[in-house]
Amino acid sequence: MNQKQMVQEILALKTKHNALILAHYYQNKEIQDIADLVGDSFQLSKAAAETNADTIVFCGVHFMAETAKLLSPNKRVLLPVKDAGCPMADMADAKSIKEYREKHPEASVVCYVNSTAEIKALSDICVTSSNAEKILKRYPGQKFLYVPDKNLAQYLIDKHDLNIDLFEGWCDIHNDLTVEDVKTMKEKYPDARFIAHPEAPLEVLREADFVGGTQALLSYALHDEASTYLIGTEEGLIHELQKQSPDKTFLPVTDKLVCEDMKKTTLEDLHRALKEGVYEIEVDSTIREAAEASLRRMMEESAQ
Ligand code: SF4
Repeated sequence: MNQKQMVQEILALKTKHNALILAHYYQNKEIQDIADLVGDSFQLSKAAAETNADTIVFCGVHFMAETAKLLSPNKRVLLPVKDAGCPMADMADAKSIKEYREKHPEASVVCYVNSTAEIKALSDICVTSSNAEKILKRYPGQKFLYVPDKNLAQYLIDKHDLNIDLFEGWCDIHNDLTVEDVKTMKEKYPDARFIAHPEAPLEVLREADFVGGTQALLSYALHDEASTYLIGTEEGLIHELQKQSPDKTFLPVTDKLVCEDMKKTTLEDLHRALKEGVYEIEVDSTIREAAEASLRRMMEESAQ
């Protein structure tokens, strides 16, 4: 089957199963192009819950499909590649959180949306890179454990002087960014703006003209007046930026910004997912309610 036939079959299967295809901004271009919705992980899960689709196919990594299932318990949620995971989400373990809670009963546990349902269930509230600042800065005296991304936590501490204990977790892709990478590109493109995701180390974020989650980076670069941008997040975002703003130039700040797990999903995988109903995501009934509650708390707090 050639690519054109594959795309036609995917669209036919999508209609047959009343399915909705979601693609994270970090997916391969052809996956982004065939998706019904492209976005960041929580925004996609929330939007999918509001549709009447029977099946959600989440082209992303495991925790994203799990989040979609938590918000849409009555829909079938499929992840096209079984082992597409997030190494950062997998760094957080239940034992460490339980031990921390015993030692620090006064602290609240905040989990990043990039976490498993089990970790969400053990947390008081979930946050995203877009709403973490808004929610946590409301509690200046409160002690928090922020799981699992130490870089995002450090950024919040630096910006708002919050009382946050760090968990030793990080995203390899963003954590590998260096000040040297940024300076090298800034020398080549002195008029370019550097925009970065808060999963990058603090010293790199201090070099940025703007820091934000994927959606915020997109919005900033589209509405700002510069003509060239150095992108400090996974390179997949450039596809959407270029589509929406073809006259501007968007360059990855290094060629290391590629998430292998995000790039695993191919059109063949998407086709198989729709045809065979694989791989269906289930959330353990013992943690489902608590995990959903941490997401709902975030939604309430971020709406205020
Ligand atoms: S880019 Fe980083 S945080 Fe996102 S899925 Fe890949 S490893 Fe996880």
